Formats: sequence, C-alpha cells, structure tokens
Amino acid sequence: MARKNRGWQEEDEAEAPPALICWLCSRPMGAETVWHHPVPKSRGGREQQPVHPICNKTIHANFSNSDLEKRYSTAEALLAHEEIARFVAWIANKPPDFNAPTKGRR
Ligand SMILES: [Zn+2]
Repeated sequence: MARKNRGWQEEDEAEAPPALICWLCSRPMGAETVWHHPVPKSRGGREQQPVHPICNKTIHANFSNSDLEKRYSTAEALLAHEEIARFVAWIANKPPDFNAPTKGRR
C-alpha cells in the first residue's frame, strides 16, 4: 500500500472547471447556469447562487418576490416546501441539462 505523497500535484495540473452545484437541487450544473437571488434583486438582495434554469423557473413559478424575501430566502426553507421538495425529488435523477415545461401555480 505505497502511496506517492506528491501524486496529487501532478493530477491537479489538469484544468478542471470549477464544480458548481445547484443551490436548490444539489445536482452538478449543466451547460447553462442561472444566478438566483435568494433575496430578490428588487428587494435589495445582492447574494447570488447558481441554479439550473429549470430550478430557477420552479422557484419563481411557486413564489412571488415577496414570498422569497420574507420566507424563502434560504434553500432550507424552499426545500421544506411541499412543491419544491417534490420537484427536487423528481429532478434528482435527471441529467444536468434536463429541461421541461414548468407547471406553475395558477
Ligand atoms: Zn438545480
């Protein structure tokens, strides 16, 4: 079980893109990254988190900016919501670039 102490340095030479993980569903990001404002920009939010286009659409289909600001500005709060929990469970095994029409609340 001999381990090369410096092996990792050589392997690290390869240019690996920064691994972005979706703020909402925790899957790796695909070709397109949307930067979601946990606190809406219009409400003074400055922080941005990477999400899939479909995750961003799902968030905005279910919540108004007011909801997002007051109650759903963290991934934990969103994931505790039944619709979002169902969406994340459903999307979990889909490829990163998967997209589909988003069912919104009417
Ligand atoms: Zn996602």
